[in-house]
Amino acid sequence: MPVKPEQFALVQQHLAKFPQQQPCPICGGKTWNVAALESGLLMHDAGVSVGGGIPTVTVVCATCYFVRRFAWMPIARAAGGAGHG
Ligand SMILES: [Zn+2]
Repeated sequence: MPVKPEQFALVQQHLAKFPQQQPCPICGGKTWNVAALESGLLMHDAGVSVGGGIPTVTVVCATCYFVRRFAWMPIARAAGGAGHG
């Protein structure tokens, strides 16, 4: 599902807690785009799906498109329960 602005902000806040981890391990880039919240879709734009599981949020390197995924619910819980289910 698309990321709402408030969810985007929560992910950015989460990433900011770990500045030593932010550079991309592939290209060294420091800009990460929050791509999607996923409960079953891997890339909703490409129509590729995988099975369900824990809700995750995907961030993508703006330079080389390396993908990182985080469990979404702990991030939402830490912010007061702004998750999607
Ligand atoms: Zn990169």
